Amino acid sequence: MTEKPCNTILFFGQSRGKPSNAGDNLSGLAPHRHNGVTDQPVSQRESLLNFHGQKTLALYQLADHGHHIPAALSLSPSFCHELTEITQDHSTDKTYQELRRQLAKLSAPKSCGHIGQNLLVARVSSFVKLPLHLPFVQGLGLHKNVITPLEQQWGIPFAHYIFQRFIAQYAGLVWGIADWEFEDLAYDLLGSDTNEKDRQAGDWQQLTELYLELVTQTHGHTIPEDRTEQCMAVAAALSQKWQSPGLNMLRQLHNLADSPEPAIILQAMYFAHPDKPEFSGFCYSRHPRTGEKGLFGQFYPGLSNSSSKLSPNCPVPQKLASNNASIMDDLQALVQKLETRFREAVKLNFVYEDKTLWLLNAEPLRTEIHATIKIACDQVDEGLISKQEAIHCCDPAELSYFLHHSLEPGDRHPLITALPASHGASSGKVALDRHTALAYSHAGEDVILVRPETDPEDVHAIRFAAGVLTSQGGNSSHAAVIARSMGCPAVVGAKDLVFIRDDNGLKNISFAIGDQVFKNGDRITIDGQNGTVYRGNIPLREPTFPDELNRLLGWADEIATMTVRANADSLEETGCALNFGAKGIGLCRTEHMLLTPEALFHFRRVLLENDPDKKSAALQDILHDQKTKITGLFQKLSGLPVTVRLLDPPLHEFLPKDPIEIEALSIVLERPADELGEIVKSLEEKNPMLGHRGCRLAITLPELLEIQTLAILEAAKETHSKGITLPKLEIMIPFVMLESEISLLVSRIKTIADKFCLEEDLPLDYCIGTMIEIPRAALMAQKIAGHTDFFSFGTNDLTQTVWGLSRDDGDTFLRDYYSGGLLSYDPFKTLDTEGVGAIIAAACKAGKKGNPKLTLGICGEHGADPASISFFQGIGLDYVSCSPFQVPIARLAAGQAASNVDNVQSS
Ligand code: PEP
Ligand code: MG
Repeated sequence: MTEKPCNTILFFGQSRGKPSNAGDNLSGLAPHRHNGVTDQPVSQRESLLNFHGQKTLALYQLADHGHHIPAALSLSPSFCHELTEITQDHSTDKTYQELRRQLAKLSAPKSCGHIGQNLLVARVSSFVKLPLHLPFVQGLGLHKNVITPLEQQWGIPFAHYIFQRFIAQYAGLVWGIADWEFEDLAYDLLGSDTNEKDRQAGDWQQLTELYLELVTQTHGHTIPEDRTEQCMAVAAALSQKWQSPGLNMLRQLHNLADSPEPAIILQAMYFAHPDKPEFSGFCYSRHPRTGEKGLFGQFYPGLSNSSSKLSPNCPVPQKLASNNASIMDDLQALVQKLETRFREAVKLNFVYEDKTLWLLNAEPLRTEIHATIKIACDQVDEGLISKQEAIHCCDPAELSYFLHHSLEPGDRHPLITALPASHGASSGKVALDRHTALAYSHAGEDVILVRPETDPEDVHAIRFAAGVLTSQGGNSSHAAVIARSMGCPAVVGAKDLVFIRDDNGLKNISFAIGDQVFKNGDRITIDGQNGTVYRGNIPLREPTFPDELNRLLGWADEIATMTVRANADSLEETGCALNFGAKGIGLCRTEHMLLTPEALFHFRRVLLENDPDKKSAALQDILHDQKTKITGLFQKLSGLPVTVRLLDPPLHEFLPKDPIEIEALSIVLERPADELGEIVKSLEEKNPMLGHRGCRLAITLPELLEIQTLAILEAAKETHSKGITLPKLEIMIPFVMLESEISLLVSRIKTIADKFCLEEDLPLDYCIGTMIEIPRAALMAQKIAGHTDFFSFGTNDLTQTVWGLSRDDGDTFLRDYYSGGLLSYDPFKTLDTEGVGAIIAAACKAGKKGNPKLTLGICGEHGADPASISFFQGIGLDYVSCSPFQVPIARLAAGQAASNVDNVQSS
């Protein structure tokens, strides 16, 4: 598409007093008749429509098929952009002149026109469906000099109601003057209990004066009198709103960060005057909360285009029925046709004025998520859409509604808002350390573990906690990753949460948020959906997984080419992952198996014992413990793939830091506490995430590699001996940087495994692969692939190492980057496709050169992020692996990524 045609203004619709074109054929996209549309050949007009968003498209087509659509201009995004660049002296500006020339088309003919018939409404026509109502301005063309004639035409209350609404909307949008400043004026003048109906004419007039004073005297602005100038300011402001921090954040949350800027519609306003037998309203083709098919909506006596009363707080829509049966029939037929056109439920705004049904706005309907899914399934059953289209009915992230508890709706104010790290909401007793958390939980209480940050020793407590709240950390910090893997709601990085220590400075005894202090046992509620934290218990809504969702996910699986596995290392997680439809385990972190109290004790003995016999006995205990746990997984997975990763974290993570715990361990191990303290100290590293971890452990402590390999093989043997199908076993080596590392470790594992299988006559089909999570490994991919059967990209560590940014607390300063516009997304949540993604893509290509049979997967936290999944699809990965509770999200995203969106839309 060339630059020029997108700089357009499109005119459509019909001016008052002109006859309407009859006809109601909405079956095709191509316009059938020329009804006041710019003089462009058909094909060019069609392509122009591509620059004007969904509302313009819908209204244009309705106009083109003979419906009564108020005359309108649609300003393309690039035209709006030019408007934003106009400087103070705009009178000679070409863009401004063009706007003025085109706006003249929206004036009512002199014979029938009066000021009220030349007013305009400005609305946004976006290319994507956002889960909120975008701002609009009604009454463009109004100014204080026309209020007297308007009072005569409409009566004082209605004229001032419209004018005041215009002032507040205009000032709010263009200068950011808050609604409440206007609301306060009414309150100060009339008190709390004067409702609009009881106001006297003088009250209305006085309030208008106060509105204007607020704008001019308090804020130093003047609303221009000229309609074109008003339109210019409003169109520019609406267009710029798209890039506001709030909307940027929202679009990012819904994976719409890169969606194009919207077009702006300027349309003649139509009123249903309250004193006449006129009405306005809106209707839906399906119920937005239940998904039921039928004509639902609301009628209002006497309101106008896009009235603010049509906000999301409007009453639950009713099935429409009225005395105007023929209008009902028209609306019913119309929404059905529109649904066929949009291929989704639709919403229509209308006004009945001067015995004519004017259609003001038509757009896809925003529905609640369970309704969205029901509607998509119903539409497939009705033959209206294909399964492939159905799986595009929602943003996969919205499925978290079905997977976790959520707060019952209500008007409440959070104490703080921090990073939403793991979905779901929970209420419980504050526990400031893991021991208290376990004690409460064993007593049957719900617990929220509140810590500055969590460490591996907290895992056991997190498993039993209802929620986790930390003052530090980002999206791939320990607390976030562990909580997500367990489906435990978590809010992290709550900087305004200040811990208060005991007199010795050893233990946190309370925390403060502002002037509110909380100690063990106090009740709080966290919402991992939006990062909010509240005092006290809040009622929770139970999640339910409707049958329709299972159908939808089944269709996604049929279409997907990447499979979805889970990151799971316990029976509960594996069970949950399988229930949610995972096709295997893509990452079993064996270190998590070491975090139960018993296993941790054995492992500490391995690390701390001096006596070789005692050390060897401890290693045998670890072998037994790991074998038992891995056997459980193998039996549950029967036949599915499972990727068992060798030990990864630095060793100090397994040792106690607390002097009291070191003392206790010294008694059991019969060693002086200060000696143990010295060993613990010696294992501490300045930069542990870049230190003695991953395969470096297997190289320096070969006995660990041997014990872990044997535990896996013993588990396979036991599974086989019970007649259970063996899983497809993949042994994974983490944190590789050198070809020599992988070649040495693969040969050691193979030697142990082949000997074992031969001696035990075990028909085990196993393969060995590596994580790619260090840039050097990615650069060496071809050589490394020569030694391995698969690559699994560890995008948490890879992002950390490519960006040189701590995955645990890099987020602290990134917030300034977000607010300063330097960065628009969290790279630990959504893959940096330009940097990390480019490295992954190159490693895949090189890896396939080194080993054409190489399997490719990803197991970092990006494995459930829809935008990242779409990228992984593009570079040809075989699977994604994510936390069990995110499996449905990843399944839908994988289906969406595999289906060609463009084909779907044009089918
Ligand atoms: C990763 O680095 O992406 C990964 C999955 O490993 P871990 O989070 O355990 O370091
Ligand atoms: Mg890693």
